[in-house]
Amino acid sequence: VLDFPFPEPPPPGEWRAVAPGLLWARLPLPFRLDHVNVYALADGDGWVLFDAGIADDATRALWDRLLPALGPVRALIVSHNDPDHVGLAGWLCDRLAVPLWTSRATFLSATAYVHAPGLLEAEEYTRFYASHGMGEEVAALVSTRGHRYLRMMSRPPRSYRRLAPGMVLRLGGRDWTVLTGEGHAPEQVMLHAPAEGLLLAADQILERISPNVSAGAFEPEGDPLGDYLASLDRLEGQVDGASLVLAGHRLPFTGLPERAAALRVHHAARCDLILSACADGPRSAAELLPVLFPQALDAHQTAFAFGETLAHVARLVAEGRLVWEERDGLRRVRPAASEPPALLRRAGRA
Ligand SMILES: [Zn+2]
Repeated sequence: VLDFPFPEPPPPGEWRAVAPGLLWARLPLPFRLDHVNVYALADGDGWVLFDAGIADDATRALWDRLLPALGPVRALIVSHNDPDHVGLAGWLCDRLAVPLWTSRATFLSATAYVHAPGLLEAEEYTRFYASHGMGEEVAALVSTRGHRYLRMMSRPPRSYRRLAPGMVLRLGGRDWTVLTGEGHAPEQVMLHAPAEGLLLAADQILERISPNVSAGAFEPEGDPLGDYLASLDRLEGQVDGASLVLAGHRLPFTGLPERAAALRVHHAARCDLILSACADGPRSAAELLPVLFPQALDAHQTAFAFGETLAHVARLVAEGRLVWEERDGLRRVRPAASEPPALLRRAGRA
């Protein structure tokens, strides 16, 4: 049901116009998801960039080809704190002598990661994973993935201009309203041009891929899936359904309401799988992980899969459908008393 007006991505090192004064380019990523989309927004005779790519040589080499094709750059907007989007922000801002515009949460968290190496290896974080049933070895691997993250970030600028929801940026005669989303990343910045029906959506909504929604050690009692679903509802209320969605990955598309509906169904189905798996007895998040992710995973993927599993568990607890129980330092969930196991089993297998 989605429509793809630009079915071919631009070749490496080239911009493609997707609307007047709006260019799209692709940068590589050394992951299974092998690319990230960046954009350039016309501002008079200059440009404002949207997202930076990951800090590696392949991406720097592509910027060397992309930048000469533009006029002067006036600013860099960064959507959120993942290294595939913010990674080269410091490098680009230094090199182009331009300011960084982003949300406060993006700036602060990117700054924290870069200035506190080893943050994610703190003992509290390893203990957090162990408390959810993860074996010691895996917990150690997962909590040290911070190293990988740091290698893919350049030092962000020391100051920034804050983008807050509701602000309007007038760039090249077009009004872009700043929207923010939650659940995938804190205060993820999106730009919306309602008059032209354009949405720079970053990773809040993507075609085919479900944005990673992870509960993690920073915020052990968080409910990021609740945050994400509430954001999705809000976004649907703010953006006309026929708008062109230009996201951080994959192709531009129209069909935002259809995509939002599919994402809600996806998360509900995953919640149902977890409820069914808990019907026979209490389960830890680590025990539930293979219920959602039966395939073999490396340490990087395990970290994401664990966070995603815990996010669904936390949502079910917030909805009162599961309850936590803690024994000998191990946290597990069981069905809430009001939902007898037999009923869950039937619902889960229907
Ligand atoms: Zn991304």
